[in-house]
Amino acid sequence: MSTQKPLTRNEMHGLLAHYRLGDGDHVSDDQVTAWLRELRHYSAAECHAALSSLPANKVTRATPSQIAGLIDRARSQPARTGTPSSARPPVPRDREAAAAAGARGIAKVYAAMGWTWNADHVLARTVRCPFCKALAGQVCGPLSRDRSGKRELRDPITRMHPSRLTAVKKKQAAEQSTRGETATTAAPQGAHA
Ligand SMILES: [Zn+2]
Repeated sequence: MSTQKPLTRNEMHGLLAHYRLGDGDHVSDDQVTAWLRELRHYSAAECHAALSSLPANKVTRATPSQIAGLIDRARSQPARTGTPSSARPPVPRDREAAAAAGARGIAKVYAAMGWTWNADHVLARTVRCPFCKALAGQVCGPLSRDRSGKRELRDPITRMHPSRLTAVKKKQAAEQSTRGETATTAAPQGAHA
């Protein structure tokens, strides 16, 4: 099952119609093409989430590059640990609430689009895969053996390498346990190569 493939013309058309981004009630092929050109690397769920994050009076004037920017920001946020430049330590409860709200939003989108919601898949996607190096937001590649000879098969349900999920869970646990300390050395996973 491919729940996270890049969005299709049909989905793009559906989103433009849903958010009334067409001319009047009509969404033209040209519009779909123009939006897809900018958003083809993102999933429909991400586009949906980004569009739904805009206030109702702004969404009809949204541009594809604006949506791409919102998704990029959303993708980069969960991958970041703490705020090294700020003296204010992260507030775990806020983060949890934000994460939970985000997850609820995405779950709604999945339900609306008739997709299978898989929490582990979404969670794993928030970090880079330590095995196949798929970037945050991307689905794991078909790699089954890395350069060091380590073997790992993607989970058939989440379509992610199991170590990716382990990595994100470990990261979450670490964030929760070190909440008093400032997250100074938040080196991204897999920075060594
Ligand atoms: Zn992977």
